[in-house]
Amino acid sequence: MQLYHYAGNNPVEYIDPDGRQTEEWVVVSPGHGMDRPGSDPGTCHDGYKEISYIYRLTSRLMPKLSNLGVNAINIKAPPYNAYTVSRKVKESNRFGKNHKVALHISIHADSLRGDGYVGIEIFYMTGRPISKKIAEFFQKELESAGFEARIKSDNQTWVGRFGELWDTKAPATLIEIGTLGSAKGRKLLGNDKYMDKMAEILSKAIEKFIKEKPNK
Ligand SMILES: [Zn+2]
Repeated sequence: MQLYHYAGNNPVEYIDPDGRQTEEWVVVSPGHGMDRPGSDPGTCHDGYKEISYIYRLTSRLMPKLSNLGVNAINIKAPPYNAYTVSRKVKESNRFGKNHKVALHISIHADSLRGDGYVGIEIFYMTGRPISKKIAEFFQKELESAGFEARIKSDNQTWVGRFGELWDTKAPATLIEIGTLGSAKGRKLLGNDKYMDKMAEILSKAIEKFIKEKPNK
């Protein structure tokens, strides 16, 4: 049986000596911010908080993954309680020591887009073909379902380098599910049917990703 071990997102193939099926996991990392009063709310625009929109998606996504039989943890929930990028990376990697993590998916909403685009953006590590393959996989799955989705290299952002992509040992992706920087973007993110569908398609895409391993 072929298995892949990941070190810094570089796959290293090895053979499982027992030939046993390894149970695989997905680490879901809801992006920026906390919903506690006085704490970092993540990206904000005109009083709209990123974290509110992310919870709208993750509260739908986690049960759908569970229904599909996908093992998934929310790294922001107990017992992990990882709220910052560095803590998320640390907890994800710690979890990966005892579990085979097929995907670390960081989910955000943007507020800075200036080009009027309100669709989904999926980011990959600059100069890493494997990372780009993962982003392209999710773009294709979302587009096939009728969503607007585009991919972008992380050096095309003001951040320049996404720690959750570079520093998690599992294959990783970072997705911006939309923008709160425009009324049009907020209307989409506030639409229950839109979010239901996104959770539906994303959960199925994650299940397919684990089965097909398009990043190989
Ligand atoms: Zn964010």
